[in-house]
Amino acid sequence: MTTVAAYAAPAAKAPLERTAIERRAVGEFDVLIGIEFVGICHSDIHQAREGWGEAIFPMVPGHEIAGVVAEVGPGVTRFRAGDRVGVGCMVDSCRACANCAAGLQQYCTGGGPVWTYNSIGKDGEPTYGGYSEKIVVDENFVVRIPDGLSLDVAAPLLCAGITTYSPLRHWNAGPGKKVAVVGLGGLGHMAVKIAHAMGAEVTVLSQSLRKKDDGLRLGADQYHATSDPKTFEELAGTFDIILNTVSASLDFAAYLSVLRTDGTMVNLGLPEEPVQIGLQSLFGHRRSMSSSGIGGIPETQEMLEFCAEHGAGAEIELIGAAEINEAYERVQASDVRYRFVIDTATI
Ligand code: NAP
Ligand code: ZN
Ligand code: ZN
Repeated sequence: MTTVAAYAAPAAKAPLERTAIERRAVGEFDVLIGIEFVGICHSDIHQAREGWGEAIFPMVPGHEIAGVVAEVGPGVTRFRAGDRVGVGCMVDSCRACANCAAGLQQYCTGGGPVWTYNSIGKDGEPTYGGYSEKIVVDENFVVRIPDGLSLDVAAPLLCAGITTYSPLRHWNAGPGKKVAVVGLGGLGHMAVKIAHAMGAEVTVLSQSLRKKDDGLRLGADQYHATSDPKTFEELAGTFDIILNTVSASLDFAAYLSVLRTDGTMVNLGLPEEPVQIGLQSLFGHRRSMSSSGIGGIPETQEMLEFCAEHGAGAEIELIGAAEINEAYERVQASDVRYRFVIDTATI
């Protein structure tokens, strides 16, 4: 066991504070990673505030982890000390079910994946995330960060990148397809970059026009304010795919009305309360309402190569650990451009 410094929420809704946690000894197939950067995902906030139901405290959030391998166990074949690596939302799964075999570990049916934090590991101990100096992870849940991406802008790709890349691939975003991205935050800005790099025509639907210049610079072709009711009239029946990245509930009828016939709205945002939709919004044009969770390990590696090739790192605001609580407030106020990343040297 190794004791490492970390930032934890001691209880639901309590501010995060510096603490110490134990990491397990490096096992046969384990990789010890010196964490350099970790992104702040809105999911960290939902969970630290216990917004998604009962959570495990103290909680060390963080599932957008980038760092360098410090040590490997004797059975590790894919990594060695000095490699630049990442860890996302999962640190294990059953590895035996059909979904695990297909590389869709996020949909593991053998008891579900072991999440990077707020979960119980196979050793029966709670998992602790990346707001910490080091982490020990089985090599099968570690990915390689390509040389073309610096670690700070790569960190958010481990959740925001894969969560948007996976549905864009699944629903065939590409040339000739019109993609709308709702919400220009952490996920939204990566959705714009990735959909643009895939060759789709991209429209941002944001609450206001205040980030319009950024949206166009990131690769959007069009940018509309959802606070303007004319937006929904003008765009009626337009999009093949809507990626909804909003962390709160929306007027779904209005958003579904801008899908074309056979279009799909993919809900990536996970509001804390159940949402309501009228099925009338779907039946008239055979529209689909769907969702998607992160992405599997092979697809996460593929996404990192894709982002390196297209120069699509995240747009980040680097902060010290002492600023985490303030950053949480700013994310909740939609005041993020476009991902807070913690320099873990400050922990
Ligand atoms: P974020 O950085 O806070 O971005 C969310 C954006 O949604 C905001 O920047 C804002 O954009 C818009 N927004 C916020 N409140 C709104 C409201 N009341 N009405 C309309 N728009 C609003 O959050 P994130 O880290 O991207 O995460 C977004 C959501 O995805 C969270 O619920 C998170 O838990 C979830 N998530 C899901 C997965 C998955 O696997 N499905 C993975 C990661 C995260 P504008 O200012 O442009 O309007
Ligand atoms: Zn996340
Ligand atoms: Zn499984």
